[in-house]
Amino acid sequence: MTEINYDDNNIFARILRHELNADVIFENEHVLVFQDKFPQARVHLLAIPKGRYRSFDDFSAHAGQEEIVSFFQAIGDSARHAGLTHGGYRLVSNCGKNAGQEVPHFHMHILGGEALGPIIS
Ligand code: C5P
Repeated sequence: MTEINYDDNNIFARILRHELNADVIFENEHVLVFQDKFPQARVHLLAIPKGRYRSFDDFSAHAGQEEIVSFFQAIGDSARHAGLTHGGYRLVSNCGKNAGQEVPHFHMHILGGEALGPIIS
């Protein structure tokens, strides 16, 4: 496997090592789902794989099938658990600098709980 130039001191890596607190709503061997600290919607969750992937680009290129399946199942389960199914919700992942990705550990935003504006404004 190609070596990934991953920053082990990024905030989400530190959350995974329990060096920083997070309001965790779901965890299994592959995935952690927690509340975004600066929510941009009434419900704003972040789903992260436990593997060392900088972005969706790394994840899609290097993650195993079990990790990928587990990741997407955790997102669906968390959205249902948060009561988002009926009203609907948005999944967003910023990948790299053109998308404005701030934290260099792959994450999926789960946004809902209210009507959201257009995705690009
Ligand atoms: O996609 P992007 O990398 O910009 O998203 C990073 C997310 O991480 C932001 O929504 C931000 O609010 C969240 N964050 C957090 N806890 C921190 C720092 C950032 O939940 N300590």
